[in-house]
Amino acid sequence: MHAVQFADHGDRDVIEYAQRPDPSAGRGEVLVDVKAGALNHLDVWTRRGLPGIDLEMPHVPGSDMAGVVESVGDGVTRFEPGDRVALTAGVSCGECEFCRDGEESQCVNYHLIGEHVPGVHAEYAAVPEDNLVAVPVGVDWETAAAAPLVFQTAWRMLMTRAELRAGESVLVLGASGGVGHAAVQIADFAGAEVFATASTDEKLEYAREIGADHVVNYEETDFASELYELTDGRGVDVVVDHVGGETWDDSLKSLAKGGRLVTCGATAGATPETNINRVFWNQLSILGSTMATPGEVDDVLAKVWDGTFEVRVRDRLPMSETARAHELLEDREGFGKVVVVPDSELDE
Ligand SMILES: [Zn+2]
Repeated sequence: MHAVQFADHGDRDVIEYAQRPDPSAGRGEVLVDVKAGALNHLDVWTRRGLPGIDLEMPHVPGSDMAGVVESVGDGVTRFEPGDRVALTAGVSCGECEFCRDGEESQCVNYHLIGEHVPGVHAEYAAVPEDNLVAVPVGVDWETAAAAPLVFQTAWRMLMTRAELRAGESVLVLGASGGVGHAAVQIADFAGAEVFATASTDEKLEYAREIGADHVVNYEETDFASELYELTDGRGVDVVVDHVGGETWDDSLKSLAKGGRLVTCGATAGATPETNINRVFWNQLSILGSTMATPGEVDDVLAKVWDGTFEVRVRDRLPMSETARAHELLEDREGFGKVVVVPDSELDE
């Protein structure tokens, strides 16, 4: 079979689409005939190399995919050949104190398929049964592949960690990204007043279409000052930040007294300065969030499958053009998710 892989960390030119041995389903595993995959920012980080994560090379990336069950290994009870499935990438041990408490994404051995262990951007992927969810007939492969990682992330951030309530206000930074566009929709669904930032007016128009009440072009204006104006000096109750870096201080500045900042990533830098005076005087909460529990995954994907939430796809490429997919993410071109499809699926 063909798979996306890289033998070394580095720039986009390390990515190849190469022949690999056909996988088979081991005990507790399901072999999936992959119909579509989706990119996430972590694919870029994984390609560049993350401190503390030593990958077996060549590494197959990919933490989102959907397809049809080809075969099942011994002990698999929930799926059979022909079933439509999508991957949810978080792997937990099931035995530690956090898993036993129902907080699987806090597992002490938590890791992600595609980031810490081989991923799924290939013609076939063998994955644990627990990492698959059923996809109803009528949901297209692009939606099924592109929804799980970002929608579960945004759902847990807003609903569980920030405990968003109807009538509150939410600022979503970088609304054109996968997590951002999911967060805008979830905040709107929860009854919040939604503020969204993006780098172009075209992206902001998309943000409005999917539920943003107010939009701010952060290339043209300082978003913290703009938020101050838009909220009559009050600030917002919740900020969703997956950017970090230079935005961090402005995110804290944008919060109302008692506000909550929830973060799931730091694409622009992980070690910004924090003004602690602002944190204690305004009684702010800084909340971390990673992926979601299986129950949260079920809750949010039910609302993707029934059309409550919409997955925007900015581009659909053959897997052999995965380097271009990384370029779209790194240059922040377009709005929504980047989907990759095995080249053999496009030939048919
Ligand atoms: Zn655990």
